[in-house]
Amino acid sequence: MQCNDPKCPHHGHLKVRGNVLTGTVKSAKAPKTVSVERILVKYVPKYERYKKTKSRVYAHNPDCIAAKEGDFVTIGETRKLSKTKSFVVLKIEKKADAETHVATAIPEAKNIKKEKVEEKTGKKKHKENAEKTEEAREEKGLHEKKDSKNEKNAKKEKK
Ligand SMILES: [Zn+2]
Repeated sequence: MQCNDPKCPHHGHLKVRGNVLTGTVKSAKAPKTVSVERILVKYVPKYERYKKTKSRVYAHNPDCIAAKEGDFVTIGETRKLSKTKSFVVLKIEKKADAETHVATAIPEAKNIKKEKVEEKTGKKKHKENAEKTEEAREEKGLHEKKDSKNEKNAKKEKK
């Protein structure tokens, strides 16, 4: 394929040096630019646990590569190409299949909504249950007290 982009790492005059990162393309709307999202894991000392964080890096997307949304790409650090770009897409590691992407994306969203609804209702149920159990406990407590009194009386009688 013909590529006349001077900012292309393969056909232009661009030198790639520094970090080489991988991530998924979240936006390819701007001309010759992609927003690459990386999932990172950060340690939180207070809770002694790990936290998932995201980072987005803008990268130049030459015509000969033409990465699209959902593609898993490798990007390399270069000189500053614009105000927000200092990376360039080197390679598409895994292409996002457009058909499967749409097909899988919709049911997932529905499932998430359902789960959220279930969570809400579940919490309500829990509250109701808690109230019921409290009532039951109070009743039981009274009974128990009565029982204990009876037991005490019974013990006294035995003695
Ligand atoms: Zn090129």
